[in-house]
Amino acid sequence: PDFSQGAAFVEGRYVPAREARVSILDWGFTRSDVTYDVVHVRDGGFFRLDDHLDRFERSLAGLRLVPPHARAAIAAILDRCVALSDLRDAYVAMICTRGRPRVFGSRRPADCDNLFSAYAIPWIDVIPPDVQARGAHLHIASVPRIPAASIDPTMKNYHWGDLTRGLFEAHDAGADTAVLLDAEGFVTEGPGFNVFMVRNGEVLTPDRGALEGITRRSVLELCALTGVPARLAPLRREDLLSADEMFCTTTAGGVMPVSRVDGHIMGNDAPGPLSLRLKQLYWQKHAEGWHRTEVNY
Ligand code: PMP
Repeated sequence: PDFSQGAAFVEGRYVPAREARVSILDWGFTRSDVTYDVVHVRDGGFFRLDDHLDRFERSLAGLRLVPPHARAAIAAILDRCVALSDLRDAYVAMICTRGRPRVFGSRRPADCDNLFSAYAIPWIDVIPPDVQARGAHLHIASVPRIPAASIDPTMKNYHWGDLTRGLFEAHDAGADTAVLLDAEGFVTEGPGFNVFMVRNGEVLTPDRGALEGITRRSVLELCALTGVPARLAPLRREDLLSADEMFCTTTAGGVMPVSRVDGHIMGNDAPGPLSLRLKQLYWQKHAEGWHRTEVNY
């Protein structure tokens, strides 16, 4: 088999990522009844693997999903996917779907055999590198984020209907990507990333409605390490429009500078100085082996 474009683990077997298939009857497909997590490998090492496994376990518990493999086995599967594909920089996903009911036609979620899948594919950026270099243009979407009381955003999920509508709106408006507000008008997150703003030297990120991003945590830790004031806060559209700088954070991209929000130009219409410093520091800490777990090639 040719694993050069990535390796997947599906129904107990390792297959080339492009050939990996799951059943159309899986509730992950028919009901978005699934959780997942994404961890990255940079230069042959996982970044914060334990934190990603912790979050995956919390999401599983919250959604009452029980994968057929224990934590150590899952870590070994992820490692094997990376090693088989021989990737030094990879996007590594773990997925647990509800699966199919053991009893044909049952509509009881407890009757399903939950399925665990995983894959490693070449590194991808949520916001392309050239867009990051000039600073992303964000659109504040008119569609509100799905209420947190219905779909808990701290459990990673495939309920992306609102985020996808936001992306279409952003692209129609000529922007690169979107940020969504909740029904009360508070800033939440975007399709695949957390958002940050900088105002008067202080770093702020929403205190609600968002995934507890592991890159977000890393940035808050880097701020603490370097004496930059940072905190979670309720943020509204007006706050974003008054920002000196903005950036987005995600596993698949790291710290991604923003230069415009809803047509409003920040600073010099380019990545801001603190955003660039945090981005540089983030990758520097990676290179120094911060929270690194070696891949067993
Ligand atoms: N919010 C959403 C909706 C996401 O999909 C992601 C990507 N995992 C994030 C935030 C960022 O989280 P992390 O830094 O852990 O990748």
